[in-house]
Formats: sequence, structure tokens, C-alpha cells
Amino acid sequence: MNYDIHKIRSYFPVLKQKVYNKPVIYFDNAASAQKPVQVLMQQERLHNDFYGNIHRASHYMADKATEEFEGVRDKVQQFIHAENREEIIFTKGTTESVNLVATSFGEQFLSPGSEIIVSEMEHHSNIVPWQIIALNKGAKVVKLPFSDSGELQTGLLPELINSKTKLIAVAHVSNVLGTINPVAQIIETAHQRDIPVFVDGAQAIQHIPVDVQALDADFYAFSAHKMYGPNGVGVLYGKKKWLEQMPPYQGGGEMISEVSFEKTTFSEIPFKFEAGTPNITGVIAFGAAIDLLQETGLENIAGWEQELLTYATRKLKEIPGMQIYGEAPHKSGVISFNIEGIHAFDLGTMIDKMGVALRTGHHCADPVMQRYNIQGTVRISFGMYNTIEEIDLFIKALNKVRLMFG
Ligand code: PLP
Repeated sequence: MNYDIHKIRSYFPVLKQKVYNKPVIYFDNAASAQKPVQVLMQQERLHNDFYGNIHRASHYMADKATEEFEGVRDKVQQFIHAENREEIIFTKGTTESVNLVATSFGEQFLSPGSEIIVSEMEHHSNIVPWQIIALNKGAKVVKLPFSDSGELQTGLLPELINSKTKLIAVAHVSNVLGTINPVAQIIETAHQRDIPVFVDGAQAIQHIPVDVQALDADFYAFSAHKMYGPNGVGVLYGKKKWLEQMPPYQGGGEMISEVSFEKTTFSEIPFKFEAGTPNITGVIAFGAAIDLLQETGLENIAGWEQELLTYATRKLKEIPGMQIYGEAPHKSGVISFNIEGIHAFDLGTMIDKMGVALRTGHHCADPVMQRYNIQGTVRISFGMYNTIEEIDLFIKALNKVRLMFG
């Protein structure tokens, strides 16, 4: 494969760091990804060359910042193949994107007895906001379960959907199991009954090409910090026809057209949903992360990460007492596991001292833990800069930990 891993790694200064005097092996990409120089430089450039609050003032620096900020909106639109730039709303992250839709869509379209179908493999941030709005509105959250292998039981959808169903919320890729869910198929089933689908793309957008129009997704959310961009920036894509019908999520500057004490009128989308000063620096630097993903090519990244996934899965399975959670045929580079007789937390702490950064615990997905009747797992998750050599070193470290536990 024509994938210049050395060039890619050279963009990420932090990968040259040592922790505990060992070269760092960063396998916690599902939590947050490292930042390339392109993003770091962009943040500095903005503050060195021009800076001003966007959309408001009539001076050069504010105009320049506005132009660049809005340029990133265009970039995101192209990146996810949205039909209109107004369908791109900047938020703080996936969590805020979900809360925005749950609150605003819920306010407009939910009533006592309404139902929202949410998959069992969701991150808490795609469960709790729906529970909160359901409580407020007297609605109900209905579970779409998954199988032992970590595949959504989409065959149950026709049974779960009824005249009270108002929305389906599902992750494109599970942050614990790595399952790539058949969202296009779910959306098609939902649309046959005129039900919109909210897709949590937090673990998909940096790993596989996403085309919101081809998927026909009604909403699609993601976070910049998981795609090599800054933290504090997220995106909500929403079809114009929904966003226009939804009330504002927050009130404040920017989201209004006119304010008086008698009556306030709101801006058009996307500004109706962007109250207050956004993360100007973050959004502009996020543009550089999108450029990097596009230059490298999502297909190439996906191919590389599939090689890492296949190799690491094979190596892990050679370890006695290994239990991997989630073995769907379509998986992204996330592997959750436990080794018999070793607590996930102990493993994580010991392997950290060997330079391996991974994650242990429930991964903000308690229902997944409950499904397998476990407290937590060890999770490794790959990014565009990880290598087979790192996997070999990780397996060596894992075997050392295993021996320590006798
Ligand atoms: N959804 C999924 C699938 C995630 O993995 C995460 C974070 O790990 C989130 C949502 C929340 O993202 P954020 O904390 O960036 O809002």
C-alpha cells in the first residue's frame, strides 16, 4: 500500500516524546487523537497574524478571522458531502451536538408517549441527552439491542418502530466494540416510516469516508479532537428541513435577527444554533486537520488501520486467557479485551509504565459492560500514525504484564 507512514508520523511532534524513558506508543486515539504541526501552526498563526471576533466588527482582522472561520464551514461541508453550508453547525463537540438535537428536536417533535429508539452500544453522550428530554416530555427511550458478536440486531427494527417513534439515535462506529454499524440500512428502514435518524459519527469520521447525502442521514455529529484537530470544537450536520423547524438551543448574541423586550426574532440557520462567541481559533485550526485527512485520503487511512486491526487481533488471540469483545465483520481499529485473572485497571497501570497509552474502564458505555456482564475492559484504538512495530512492542509489554501476574 502506498501509505507514507514516516511522513505522517513526522507531522506529530508528540510521537517523538518519551514517557518513563520509553518511546510513547499512543493507542488511546478513540479518546482523543494527537495533533499535527499543521494544526499547531494554524493556532499560532491566527494569534500572531490576525485575530478578532467573527461576524461582528467592521475591521480588517475581524473580517479576516470571519473569512477563515466560514471557510472551514465550507471545508466541513465538502468533507462530509453535505448539500448546503448552512447545514453545518459548529458546537463544542459531539456531546453538545447530541444535546442540541435532543433538546431542540425534542422540544418541537416529542410529546407524552413519544418514543426514541437508541442503540445499546452508544456512548453515554448519545443516551443521556435522550433520557433527559424523554423525562421532560413524558417520552420513552427504547433500546435497540446488539448480539454477542457486537452487531446491532437491526432485524428487530420493524418490531420496535411504531406510530409513536419519533427518532432513532445510533453510532456509526462503536467506541468500545469497533463495530461499523449498517447506518445506511437503518436510515432506509427508518425513512420508510418517515422517522429521522441521528448518527453519532465521533468514532467514524476520522477512519472511514462519510457522505451524509449518500447515507441520507438526518443528523450527523462529530468532534474535532478525535480527528487530529483541537478540542472544544465539534460539528452538527442537520438536514435543512429539520434545522429550520427546530427552535434555538441557546439564546445569546449571534443567533438573533432583532431583539426587543417585546419580541425577539432569530437568525437563519446555521447562526440560529450558534449563540455567543464560538471557538474561533479552534475552528480555524480544525480546517488544517481536515486538510491533512483529505490529503492522506480517508480510503488510505482506512486501509492502513484495517491492517493494524487485523494484525493486532491475530496477535492478541495468541495470548492465553484472552477475551475480545466485539468481533463484527465490519470493524474499525478499536479492540476491547480482558485477560483472565488480570484486572483491566491493573493491566493499564502497569503497561503505562512501559510507555503504552491505552484506556481501561467502561469507556462511557455502561450498557455495553452490562450486556457482557463485566466491569470494564482494556481498550486499544488506532490512529493514522500507528504502526505494526508498535503493536509488536505492545504485545511484548502485554506478555511481560501477564508474567508478572504469574
Ligand atoms: N460518541 C462517541 C461514540 C464517542 O466515542 C465519544 C467520545 O469518546 C463521544 C460521543 C463524546 O465525544 P466528546 O467528548 O468529544 O463530546
